[in-house]
Amino acid sequence: MDSSYTSTGHSSSNGGRVEFPGRTCFCGCTVRMFTSRTSQNPGRRFLRCPKLHLSTFSYLLGEKCDFFEWVDQHMCDRAGTIIPGLLVRLNQLEDHNRIVEVEKNRLSEENRLLYDCVVQLQVTNNALRYKLKLVLICAICCLLAFVWFM
Ligand SMILES: [Zn+2]
Repeated sequence: MDSSYTSTGHSSSNGGRVEFPGRTCFCGCTVRMFTSRTSQNPGRRFLRCPKLHLSTFSYLLGEKCDFFEWVDQHMCDRAGTIIPGLLVRLNQLEDHNRIVEVEKNRLSEENRLLYDCVVQLQVTNNALRYKLKLVLICAICCLLAFVWFM
């Protein structure tokens, strides 16, 4: 087992649980491939048993398997210094993207409410225009009647 694996632990891998056909582990399961997201081994793929994260109770019953194997070779020092920074930047951008998405949804809802208000105001406006026309017609009729009888 590689010493860098021990320092990174299992919990820092992503959930890319891709089966790796043709490879079995100590317990006979088909191993799965994951991608490390640790700063020590960013992007480095590895194989492990699907039973690795079973409970302590399962471990005591012998149902846990510690199979682990790197797929990719250890990266050069230059890549090892650049990639962690890129991963941090990627995580920041993903966080920012989530914030923008929430704001977009809030603005969409606000836009929908404003559109409903505009529609309601147009209905009110049309009703008031109709009443104004009636008032003008009545006023003109009264004026004509006044002129007629003078
Ligand atoms: Zn196993």
